[in-house]
Amino acid sequence: MTKKRISLVAPFYNESGNVHEFFRRVAAIRADLPSYEVEVVAVNDGSRDGTWNELLQAREAYPWVHLVDLSRNFGKEAALTAGLDRADGDAVVPIDSDLQHPPELLVQMLEQWERGAEVVLARRMDRHTDGRLQKISATSFYRFHNMISNVQVPMDVGDFRLMDRRVVQALQQLPENHRFMKGLFAWVGFRTVTIPYDHTDRHAGKSSFNFWKLWNLALEGITSFSTAPLKIWTYVGFGVSLLALLYGALIVLRTLVQGVDVPGYASLMAGCMFLGGVQLIGIGVLGEYVGRIYHEVKRRPVYLVREEHPAADAADERQVRLVQDGY
Ligand code: UDP
Ligand code: MG
Repeated sequence: MTKKRISLVAPFYNESGNVHEFFRRVAAIRADLPSYEVEVVAVNDGSRDGTWNELLQAREAYPWVHLVDLSRNFGKEAALTAGLDRADGDAVVPIDSDLQHPPELLVQMLEQWERGAEVVLARRMDRHTDGRLQKISATSFYRFHNMISNVQVPMDVGDFRLMDRRVVQALQQLPENHRFMKGLFAWVGFRTVTIPYDHTDRHAGKSSFNFWKLWNLALEGITSFSTAPLKIWTYVGFGVSLLALLYGALIVLRTLVQGVDVPGYASLMAGCMFLGGVQLIGIGVLGEYVGRIYHEVKRRPVYLVREEHPAADAADERQVRLVQDGY
């Protein structure tokens, strides 16, 4: 009987202090799971430190490591996409390389998978590693996102999850270039089981997500899965017009009763500025969506590969598909 193959997909961006420890932990868990064939697809997302050299060394020690070097830093979502495109296991597990996602959880994930789950979500138990502001902003993002979009992204759940082959294939059918992974994962659905885990501190280094990056990721999430921010302007417009109409009627009445009344400079200014602001916000929201359409229609590849070990056999399926589609 052939062993089932499990692919761990790990993106590495300036993780020099973590490479060695990551593979040591995975090697240990691999030894605990002799009935599976566990491989790692490590994607170097344009690191500027020694990460790539360390990955090459790791591959010499561990032949079950597949290495992909992207031509520059494309961002975590793109790095994950590159890894998923190459992961050919019967089950695939995206995992952070900074060891905030304990590889040991694989054992429980596999149990659930064997019992028939197609997706095994890892939900972090507590957010003690996050600051207060981070907690509040995360909570409000999920609330807002889930309120206005049809796809419900679960709270406290990241990219760390086990996915059946079928789920990965479904993901690969989604053609968008801008890939908000959490949303895409939720969009494809499938039979899902959630298990808890302890989100630990980074083994080494510091997080590369600052406030601005997270804000943009949040915008990406909202605009990828909801058009509510676009549609709301119709209602805002109706509301404001209605108020203006009522106010107009009031002025006519007042003029009829009290005669002509010239003052009103301040209220005029306030009204103009308010409406100017509302219009600019509306245009800004429109811009967010138009900008995304612009990026999507260019159909650029999600990532570019500099080198790969072992050398790509089936080429990059994603890019081949783009060529076949005539792009
Ligand atoms: N990462 C990446 N490309 C980036 C930023 C991050 O591949 O541009 C990887 C990083 O190496 C790590 C994972 O994504 O494995 C999560 O990143 P990080 O720990 O910085 O984020 P946080 O855990 O704070 O959300
Ligand atoms: Mg991290």
